[in-house]
This record gives sequence, C-alpha cells and structure tokens, in this order.
Amino acid sequence: MRQKIAAGNWKMNLSYEQGSDLVDKLKQNVPSNGAKVIIGVPYPYLKSFNDAVSGIDGIDIAAQNCHHEVKGAYTGEVAISMLDSIGLKYVIVGHSERRQYFNESDEIIKTKVDLCLSHNITPIYCCGEPLEVREAGDQVSYVKSQISNSLLHLSTEEISKLIIAYEPIWAIGTGVTASPDQAQEMHHEIRKMLSDKYGNSVANDISILYGGSVKPNNAQEIFAKGDVDGGLVGGASLDAPGFIEITLAF
Ligand code: PEP
Repeated sequence: MRQKIAAGNWKMNLSYEQGSDLVDKLKQNVPSNGAKVIIGVPYPYLKSFNDAVSGIDGIDIAAQNCHHEVKGAYTGEVAISMLDSIGLKYVIVGHSERRQYFNESDEIIKTKVDLCLSHNITPIYCCGEPLEVREAGDQVSYVKSQISNSLLHLSTEEISKLIIAYEPIWAIGTGVTASPDQAQEMHHEIRKMLSDKYGNSVANDISILYGGSVKPNNAQEIFAKGDVDGGLVGGASLDAPGFIEITLAF
C-alpha cells in the first residue's frame, strides 16, 4: 500500500543505550499525519526494539540486511528465517554500501528480495547511481537496469508488497542532496517502469522513498514532489529532534 514513510538507517552507529533512548523518543512522537516511521537498527538491537514498538501503530523496526542463503555455514551472517522468528516486518536490501563494500550484485539482491517476500517481510529495496553515471547523464538507464535485474521477475502480488528507495550514491552521507526535481524525475521514471510492467494502479500503490542527505531543512521540499513518498534517512536519523522533524515534513 502506498504510504508516506520516514525510514531511518542507523548503519553501524549508536550504542544499545543510545539507541533505546532514541527509540523511546520516537515512540513518544509517532507522527499524527499518517506517516509511518521505520527504523533500520543494528542486528543486536532488533528483538528488543521490535518488541518495544510492537502494538504501536505508525512505528516499526527494520534490519539493515539479511544473508542471501537460507541457512548454513556462513559465520557471522543472519538468515531471513531468524529475522522472521523474532517477528520483524522490514529489511533494507541492496543498500549501496552493501553493494560497494560487500560486493552485492543485482543477482544477490534479487535473491534477498525473494527471501524476504517468502517470509512475508517487506524489503526496502535500494537502488541508485554513482556520480560518474549521473555526470554522464545515464542515471535513468542505470537505475532501470538495477530494477530490471532484481525486481521485474516478481509477480504483481509480490511487487505490491515492496518499498523502493531511490538513493543516488553521490548524495549519500555527502551533504549533497538531489534537488527535488532530480528526485521527482527518477521516481517518476521508476513508477512508469513499474506501470509499464504491472499496470498503473499497481505502480501507483508502491511507496518510493528518496534517500541521500535528507535533513530537516530539505525534507519538506523533497517530500512535496508527487512521486516521492518519503525518505530513507541515514545521518539525520541519529538525532531525535531532527528525525522527528523529518517525520512531520509531509
Ligand atoms: C542512507 O544511508 O541510506 C542515507 C541516505 O544516508 P544519508 O541520509 O546520511 O545520506
């Protein structure tokens, strides 16, 4: 279902105590504008924080990753069935940092998307182009190819369960934000691609988030664009007042 979403991605930041404090503050400030808050937290905090928000409408916890194999001898990895077994409902899949530092290919990300869906867990699927692709003007075909390789095998029912996050790599953690028009242009292209394959009403029902240096002072302008349904927020999700402001920017 298409929804306004403010998603946070803490990455490898915050102690358990700092995280608990932040979750408490977010719980006390669940937006009354109908927007959903989803917080991507480190693995060791998942069960406790997921329990802490359980039963509260409008706030959920996400894992930042899962492994692409079902189970087995993969020391240090976490299987989707383990996330399912603690009642988790969201997993960030294909973040550019996973692609860049852990060599995750479109094919691996496709497998992760499938695993999430087979466990009734919503993948927050990330895509986005590097700077050199943007500078060459090839960003639309680049992102379309990522989506085509990892998502377009899905059935209509499956694709409807996805959240997509467009995150240009040159904007992640850099302080350089895509302009609202640049975000809208790509979101429109993504929605059109989904519409061509699955039809208008399915495409119009999918939430597409923008990620890349979203801050309290630019969120409103970006979220106001017609095809932008919210944000996936890294750095600014670590600060309670700032992130709460972003959740209210719809
Ligand atoms: C991210 O990590 O997905 C992200 C968008 O980070 P930041 O908001 O810090 O650019």
